[in-house]
Amino acid sequence: MASSKTPSIHLNLNVRGLKQSATLRINEESNNLLRSGHRVFKLGLGQSPFPVPTPVVDELKVNAHQKDYLPVMGLRELRGAVADFHNRTQHERFSPDGVMIGPGSKELMFILQLVYYGDLVIPTPSWVSYAPQAHIVGRHIRWLPTSVDDGWRLTPERLHKLCSDDPDRPRLFILNYPSNPTGMTYKAEELRAIATTARKYRVLFLSDEIYGELHHRGQHISIGRYYPEGTIISSGLSKWCGAGGWRLGTFTFPEELNWLKDAMGVVASETYTSTSAPIQYAAVRAFQSDIVIEEYLWNIRRILRRLGRVLAQRLSDAGVRISEPQGGFYLFPDFSPFREDLKERGIETSEEFCRRLLKETGVAALPGSDFGHSEDALTVRLAYVDFDGTRALVAAEQIPPQKSLDDGFLEMYCHNCLEGIDRICNWIQG
Ligand code: GLU
Repeated sequence: MASSKTPSIHLNLNVRGLKQSATLRINEESNNLLRSGHRVFKLGLGQSPFPVPTPVVDELKVNAHQKDYLPVMGLRELRGAVADFHNRTQHERFSPDGVMIGPGSKELMFILQLVYYGDLVIPTPSWVSYAPQAHIVGRHIRWLPTSVDDGWRLTPERLHKLCSDDPDRPRLFILNYPSNPTGMTYKAEELRAIATTARKYRVLFLSDEIYGELHHRGQHISIGRYYPEGTIISSGLSKWCGAGGWRLGTFTFPEELNWLKDAMGVVASETYTSTSAPIQYAAVRAFQSDIVIEEYLWNIRRILRRLGRVLAQRLSDAGVRISEPQGGFYLFPDFSPFREDLKERGIETSEEFCRRLLKETGVAALPGSDFGHSEDALTVRLAYVDFDGTRALVAAEQIPPQKSLDDGFLEMYCHNCLEGIDRICNWIQG
């Protein structure tokens, strides 16, 4: 057995040199700074600030006694509720048998990458864990660039260009929208065009829709509508239900991909066995939804929409390149207009930018390089979640639906986010 002194030569080559995931590292670093008395603006980890809806918490309490192992693919009732959820919101035709439940969608993604033998294709920027997972299981990674001028959206032409070079190569493409890290989403016609290209080259699609219910206008469209036979839809409780720490993720497969689902079930049975029973029982309530959950979603969307717009505007007024977020709780500013000034201050990479930003202003953020951008791209991800979501939600519920939330509301309930952004603006200008 290796001791803690054993050199890394005994580590699997694929994990040698890998660091803990950036999202978790920045959270620990921020908490350590807070504990040692520093003021920190926690815009690093992307965790929902909102509480889990009360009916879902109540359901968990009632089911605390559930202690048996559940089937590896998940609780039958939950699989049905998840299928119904997609059928209801996206007009799909999934059956409960098409649903797989896991301890977080991150784990399901890892197993998918393990069982599927093909290249991983992801846009730059993409969420921090897709590429390391591919690296761990030894898959090739192909990045497809996007630009701030295209609102960080992938174009079908890019996908076509990659696939046409070697049309028969097996590929897994992960598309995540509303996007972490950019906050952008796609229109129906854009999804249709991407779906056409994906079908042409038989690309396996993983549509990561974990932020789907956080589309700021509640108008999320799944690409599964246009490429049903090749798309797996990924979702879970972490973002829209505020329950990241509950660790519950879902994959929903069309019948054509049963072979893949079954293979994932085999690996799941040899690894995590099944997902926590009480959490699965409670999740049924979340996916069934009702007027309480609909109102909860309506109000959190309203807060995130208004806050995202104001923060993006402040950054834009300060000369930063940024697009207004359309879903989720992320901003992805590009500080390249300040490149020369920053260089004079010894800052030439996004990593150095974030290190100095935290040290000099207390704002925690993640560098674009963690999302697949080149070191010198000067892009940064900001998770605008540093506020008391319970307090903000209760206050928003008192404001009539036809009235929009004003600056006074944001100042009162989301102050740290505003101050964090103001600190960034002053810091880059100064
Ligand atoms: N998705 C969240 C983020 O990007 C954190 C969860 C995780 O990395 O596991 O910050």
